[in-house]
Amino acid sequence: MKQQSDKQLVCASCSATYGCNDAHWRCSCGGILNLVWPAQFPKALIVKRKPNLWRYREALPIAHDEALVTFEEGYTPLLPLTISGLTVWCKHDYLFPTLSYKDRGATVLVSKLRELHLDRVVEDSSGNAGCAIAAYCARAEISCDIYVPASASQAKLEQIKAYGATLHVVPGSREATATAVLHAAATSYYASHSWNPFFFHGTKTIAYEIWEQLGWQIPDVVIVPVGNGTLLLGAALGFNDLVSAGEANRIPKLVGVQASACAPLFEAFHRGASSIAKGFQGKPTLAEGIAIAEPIRGKQILEAVRRSRGSILTVDEEQVLGELSWLARQGCYVEPTAAATIAGVRKYCEGVRDGEVIVTVLTGHGLKAAGKRSC
Ligand SMILES: *Cc1c(COP(=O)(O)O)cnc(C)c1O
Ligand SMILES: [Zn+2]
Repeated sequence: MKQQSDKQLVCASCSATYGCNDAHWRCSCGGILNLVWPAQFPKALIVKRKPNLWRYREALPIAHDEALVTFEEGYTPLLPLTISGLTVWCKHDYLFPTLSYKDRGATVLVSKLRELHLDRVVEDSSGNAGCAIAAYCARAEISCDIYVPASASQAKLEQIKAYGATLHVVPGSREATATAVLHAAATSYYASHSWNPFFFHGTKTIAYEIWEQLGWQIPDVVIVPVGNGTLLLGAALGFNDLVSAGEANRIPKLVGVQASACAPLFEAFHRGASSIAKGFQGKPTLAEGIAIAEPIRGKQILEAVRRSRGSILTVDEEQVLGELSWLARQGCYVEPTAAATIAGVRKYCEGVRDGEVIVTVLTGHGLKAAGKRSC
C-alpha cells in the first residue's frame, strides 16, 4: 500500500541505517533504533472508517493489509473528570482487549512480526506488555516466550499463560528480568516494547485519537505515567507527526509521572542531566507499571519532555492509594499505576491556571492488580 524506501531504521548512537524489513531490534553497535515513517492524515477517509486505531492507516508503518493483527482496538473514550476543580480529559485506555494501552503497541509490532514472517519471539515485561504481546501473538499464531519479574501481579501472569505463551518468572529486580531476556534474544527475535521502534509507532496513536476527539485540536498539556516511556515517547512521536504533516502547529507540553520510590527520570530532569544516573536503584512501589530504574530510552524521554516544555513529577504511595479509591468511586476501576498518573494530574492542577486543555490517560484495568490494592 505504501512505497518503501529501504533505509528507515536509524541508530540513535552511530546513525547507521537499516531497511524496514531487516529483522533488527537494535543496531549492531548496541544502539537504539528509531523508525522514520512519514505519516499522512487523510481526514475525509479517516472519519468514514471504523472507530479503532487503524483508522489512521496512512500513519502506521505496515505495508500490507494482509499482515494486520488486530482486534479493532483503540479509539478509546475521551471523557471529562473534575480534578481540583478543573476539567481533565481522560483517555480510558484500560478498555483495550488485554486491559491496558500496551495493545496500541502490540497491534503494530505483531503486525510487523507477521510481515517479517517471524514465527517465534521473546519479550520481557512487568506484566502488561507481556499480556499484550502474548495475546496478539496468539492471534497471529506466533509462538512467544515472556519473561516477567516474580513480583509482577498474579493476574497478569495468569493472563499471559492463558494466551498460550511460555512464561519465565525471574527472581529479583525488573532489571534481572531484562538481563534474562537479552540472553534469550540472542537466539530469538526480541519483540521488545522498550527497544523495538514499531511498538512506539503503535502507542503514538493516542496522540492522533486525542487530536481527533478534541475536534482536530491539540491540547495544552498531556500527562502520562512514565517508566520506559512507551506512552510518553509514543505521544511525542504522534504529536510531532501531526506537526510534520501540517495538521498542527505545536505539540502539547508532555508531563511524565513517576513514583517517588523509583524516579530516575525525575531525578535526572531536575538535575538538568541529559541522561539518567548509571546504576540507579529503585525501591518497590505499588505503581509496578512504571517501576523502571534504567529506562533504555531515558535520554530520549528527557529530550522529548524538555522539547515540549513539559516536566516530570513524582507521587508517593499514599497518594496512589488515595486516587485508586477516588477513581473507583468515579466508576473507574484501574490498577495502581493508573492511579499514580491521576495523583500526578492532581499535583499538576494545583499549580495551573484555569483554561488549559488538560488530557491524561487511565492505562491499566483494576482487575489486573486486584490483590495488590491493600499493600
Ligand atoms: C507499561 C505501563 C505504564 C508505563 O509505560 P512505560 O512504557 O514504562 O513508560 C503505565 N501504566 C501501565 C498500566 C502500564 O502497563
Ligand atoms: Zn549504531
